[in-house]
Amino acid sequence: MEICDGIKASRTNMNGFDLTYQESSAALASWARSTSSSGDVVVPRWPTLVFLLGSMGCLSISGVSHLLACHSRRLNLFFWRLDYAGISLMIVTSFVPPIYYVFLCDPAARIAYLSIIATLGFLAILTLLAPALCAPRFRPFRAALFLAMGFSGVVPAVHALWLHWEHREAHVALGLELAMALAYASGAGVYVSRIPERWWPGEFDLVGHSHQIFHVLVLVGAITHYAATTVLLDWRDRSMTSCSAFYSETVAS
Ligand SMILES: [Zn+2]
Repeated sequence: MEICDGIKASRTNMNGFDLTYQESSAALASWARSTSSSGDVVVPRWPTLVFLLGSMGCLSISGVSHLLACHSRRLNLFFWRLDYAGISLMIVTSFVPPIYYVFLCDPAARIAYLSIIATLGFLAILTLLAPALCAPRFRPFRAALFLAMGFSGVVPAVHALWLHWEHREAHVALGLELAMALAYASGAGVYVSRIPERWWPGEFDLVGHSHQIFHVLVLVGAITHYAATTVLLDWRDRSMTSCSAFYSETVAS
């Protein structure tokens, strides 16, 4: 069956290099589409790649900003705006794999959720990079946009639980996503409160500064999110033959 070929080839591709031409073609096809010509579901890898590229892009932008922001006042403002745009990119791309895999058989919900988060992310990046929108009077708008981006995960999470309540993997992935949210929220808390250097000024100038803790917590959040994505992808790889078969098995169990 084509789906099995596609998934087997993708797995082999991840773990080794022993692929025939036919298997390679099936693996490539599985990156690009979610259904085969026979209607079987092929679980694509590209949503995971989107998240990996988004987070690597964010961390690279952050690294460049840290390196070059001390150049001049003009570039300082530009690089820190770029840094925030990178964070928006990471938030948007991190939504792609969980929404894609959870709503694999629900294209309307999948497209709606991904369109909403992509629109919010585009608006956030535009707001951050357009000097006219950086005026203080737009601050509430910017804050609302970031909050909306963060909370736009709540509706799909509740929807996902409602759809897949009987699947253990959905609960495990959601638990990991809550751990991710906790890591990001703690990072934001440390960043804003400037702990611990506010208590012992000068003691953490080289190591242990709030900004370093913030970056470590962002990495923890990204790794936790990657773990949740892996749980969902493994689950879909193991359980998918076709969407109708998946739902009839779900109803029967
Ligand atoms: Zn930083």
